[in-house]
Amino acid sequence: MALSGVEIFKLLPKTNCKKCGHPTCLAFAMKLAQRQATLDLCPDVSEDAKKILGEASAPPVRPITFGTGDKAVKMGEETVLFRHDKKFVNPCVLAIEIKDTLSESDITKKIEEVLSSELDRVGQKLRVDAIALTNASGDKGKFEAAAKIISSKAPNVPVILSTTDTASAEAAVKIFTGKRPIVFGANSGNAEAMANIAKAEKAILGVTANSLDELSALTEKIKSLGVEDMVIDSGAKKAKDIIGNNTLIRRAAIKKNFKALGYPVINFAQRDDSLHEALIAAVGIAKYASIIVLSSIEKWKNLALFTLRQNIYTDPQVPMQVEQKIYKLGEPTQESPLMITTNFSLTYFIVSGEIENSKVPSRLAVMDCEGLSVLTAWAAGKFTASKIAAFIKESGIENEVKHRELIIPGYVAILSGSIEEKLEGWKITVGPREANGLPAFLKGRAA
Ligand code: SF4
Repeated sequence: MALSGVEIFKLLPKTNCKKCGHPTCLAFAMKLAQRQATLDLCPDVSEDAKKILGEASAPPVRPITFGTGDKAVKMGEETVLFRHDKKFVNPCVLAIEIKDTLSESDITKKIEEVLSSELDRVGQKLRVDAIALTNASGDKGKFEAAAKIISSKAPNVPVILSTTDTASAEAAVKIFTGKRPIVFGANSGNAEAMANIAKAEKAILGVTANSLDELSALTEKIKSLGVEDMVIDSGAKKAKDIIGNNTLIRRAAIKKNFKALGYPVINFAQRDDSLHEALIAAVGIAKYASIIVLSSIEKWKNLALFTLRQNIYTDPQVPMQVEQKIYKLGEPTQESPLMITTNFSLTYFIVSGEIENSKVPSRLAVMDCEGLSVLTAWAAGKFTASKIAAFIKESGIENEVKHRELIIPGYVAILSGSIEEKLEGWKITVGPREANGLPAFLKGRAA
């Protein structure tokens, strides 16, 4: 059961020492109750209280790592129903189905599509994360053979082994020993045997049912058999049912702390029509799916789903940022122009893109303004003449360029005089207000 703020407060030291970063123990207790703080921030909490509070403050959706190594993905750990309340934590895993009825060359082709699916968007690497091998043949030998191909050609990609046949599951999961696969297909008819297979191989168990009541009864039974890590499928296939069931599952976990449904959710979006499939997958991404299984990879579909996923799983309270440094665009010489902007990702990518469009090799000084855009950072006192001057002095750029000219965004033209005062020997030039004015501006200077 979730504890109220007052109940939590009773278990805290009540010294109001502020070490947790909150003014009082009560304020901290309230934050804990809202899952906006973690217990480890209080260094003085007793072991007894830790035990009680640790259980109560565990994330309502169980955190599970799927796969191992650098391609492992985290699932669950969610604490809110709405992204604006805090943030969604672990982006949903996109998996591509491979049926064991395919020929070896077709299986290999799909594996290669998964391996080459990665793209870079606003500084993040996005890709299809996993392979879902389906025992469509119903034949243990074919399932095992397909599993071996996947294991040899994509040894680091997390794998879902989908079958309700326990002998097939047991044979295939052994191929991925130590790699934390998901064995999907535990149902009311095979729960015990599947639980034993998952337990023996330390695999994650995928549990499927035709209703939420059946699903919660199954997870409780499987947990009592010693399997803690599960992903759950409510049987929903249509968009309406995916929204309905995923929402009920998340609400039960978050609002009621109902542990029997406190697991990452898997949805199956496969459709013959790719556009239809993309829409079903988008519904799952928007509404709480932790894994979505797709039937095919097309670059347009990847771009749409990756972008949606990235946007939904970006922390709304933390603007996306790039690293503070002097970026080289093209191959700048000691005479090349030097511009400055803030470290808001979108600003950086738009400005650097326009500089690249100009084909004028340049340097772009990107200053840490906590991810704020130029005007907002200026208004917040983070992009000021003295801070810009200090950044330029400390950046070491004076050793890289012969000139002493800094081009500032047109929106902060007002700063030019004061920067010149603070940055002795430098000339400040006001650039265009909008980034799309940069190509003409730079080409005009180079002419
Ligand atoms: Fe209270 Fe612990 Fe925070 Fe100190 S660190 S104010 S004891 S909750």
